[in-house]
Amino acid sequence: MGRTVVVLGGGISGLAASYHLSRAPCPPKVVLVEGSERLGGWIRSVRGPDGAVFELGPRGIRPAGVLGARTLLMVSELGLDSEVLPVRGDHAAARNRFLYVGGALHALPSGIRGLLRPSPPFSKPLFWAGLKELTTPRGKDPDETVHSFAQRRLGPEVASLAMDSLCRGVFAGNSRELSIRSCFPSLFQAEQTHRSILLGLLLGTGRGPQPDSALIRQARAERWSQWSLRGGLETLPQALNTHLTSRGVSVLRGQPVCGLSLEAEGCWKVSLGDSNLEADHIISAIPASVLSKLLPAEAAPLARALSTITAVSVAVVNLQYRGGRLPVQGFGHLVPSSEDPGILGIVYDSVAFPEQDGSPPGLRVTVMLGGSWLRTLEARGSVLSQELFQKEAEKAAATQLGLKEPPSHCLVHLHKNCIPQYTLGHWQKLESATQFLAAQKLPLTLAGASYEGVAVNDCIESGRQAAARVLGTEPSS
Ligand SMILES: Cc1cc2nc3c(=O)[nH]c(=O)nc-3n(C[C@H](O)[C@H](O)[C@H](O)COP(=O)(O)OP(=O)(O)OC[C@H]3O[C@@H](n4cnc5c(N)ncnc54)[C@H](O)[C@@H]3O)c2cc1C
Repeated sequence: MGRTVVVLGGGISGLAASYHLSRAPCPPKVVLVEGSERLGGWIRSVRGPDGAVFELGPRGIRPAGVLGARTLLMVSELGLDSEVLPVRGDHAAARNRFLYVGGALHALPSGIRGLLRPSPPFSKPLFWAGLKELTTPRGKDPDETVHSFAQRRLGPEVASLAMDSLCRGVFAGNSRELSIRSCFPSLFQAEQTHRSILLGLLLGTGRGPQPDSALIRQARAERWSQWSLRGGLETLPQALNTHLTSRGVSVLRGQPVCGLSLEAEGCWKVSLGDSNLEADHIISAIPASVLSKLLPAEAAPLARALSTITAVSVAVVNLQYRGGRLPVQGFGHLVPSSEDPGILGIVYDSVAFPEQDGSPPGLRVTVMLGGSWLRTLEARGSVLSQELFQKEAEKAAATQLGLKEPPSHCLVHLHKNCIPQYTLGHWQKLESATQFLAAQKLPLTLAGASYEGVAVNDCIESGRQAAARVLGTEPSS
């Protein structure tokens, strides 16, 4: 009888792992187990009454680099080319990003000229931060917080305004706690290899083999900054589900895994409450902290390492305004923690993807709330009501964007523990997990946002690499 691989978690990582397993020349039997009734995990798109698309999770995927190209290749293999909505390089949403500081929106400078000009909220042209960066020696520590790294290399203003905001925008996290090595590995590596981030960016890391397709070529030629899908990004997990089912993968929904045990023959027993599955190998694509609670006693050291990978919550408030107008055109703006500890930023969805505005079109923006404000509320056990988040989001849209009329449509979702935090020393947790798995020869492979990147592209790549490891085909880097 052939091998059975059970994939835990039907988010994008588990779906991608199952996809790559199912396309092997000699595929194993694959069972994908999802705890909820819906596939896609944090990727969720809902329609408003006028047909407008509201993203409750990710809203754009980057096409850049090998990982961006691999995702586009998968999109083409799934037959979704005609559904892709690109943001081309010359579009306002590709060119303009803002910081909200001192009660005003400031465009982030771009191009050489932008670096030479004074660019508030920074007190001096960013050219000087660049000069400091080029002359700063290489750091000696194996890891450093994002804040300390940015302060050392680029100065205190870039650290506390730009990098603080970036950490809030990507991780809903605190730059004074997050690890540069794990959150921004390309910046860490650039310093290690070229002694400077700028030199590293200029010289690049060398191009390995790049996947190729008509869609990838189009994305390069038109310099896409990101893309979505006409019906929302949830179209991607839905298409993956259709594909998996057609390839004979068993997709179980509404079946939370509640325990894992090792049988005498070295296989796994996966407990689903009132039934069990047997597996020769498990790919776990559920959050690390959830997996840590399911592992058997024999894997206690692994469980301990995984339980320390925590996550933060984000409240996502989608707002739609009839006749509303934005004061600026761009992708959106970020808010540093010094300006407002609760508002992480606002995305101007209608600028990037007007095709999703509904009929008649209404202005869509999404306010993201989280950070230390939300952590304090959670720690105090305060009531985290929809009304509280809606009120805060409407207030932010009014003060930061001048959208003072009440919205015509509003959706509020509190996503609990949705973004893993790669805090200082995260790499050591990964190393100890990898060493334990190798030493014990456990038939378990880890994938998903908890480990090496939270972006959709990173998660898809983690699924691809997990499948390659199980199949014994070396993943090309
Ligand atoms: C608000 C928000 C905005 C984001 N914006 C962007 C963006 O614009 N661009 C971008 O690239 N990325 C973005 N991200 C990041 C990205 O969406 C996520 O990191 C990614 O979707 C995580 O995928 P995953 O499959 O690893 O995990 P998840 O999506 O968490 O999937 C895990 C799955 O496992 C299931 N599960 C959990 N426990 C069990 C169990 N015991 N048994 C069975 N199943 C279980 C869950 O139900 C879930 O379906 C955003 C994330 C959030 C939260």
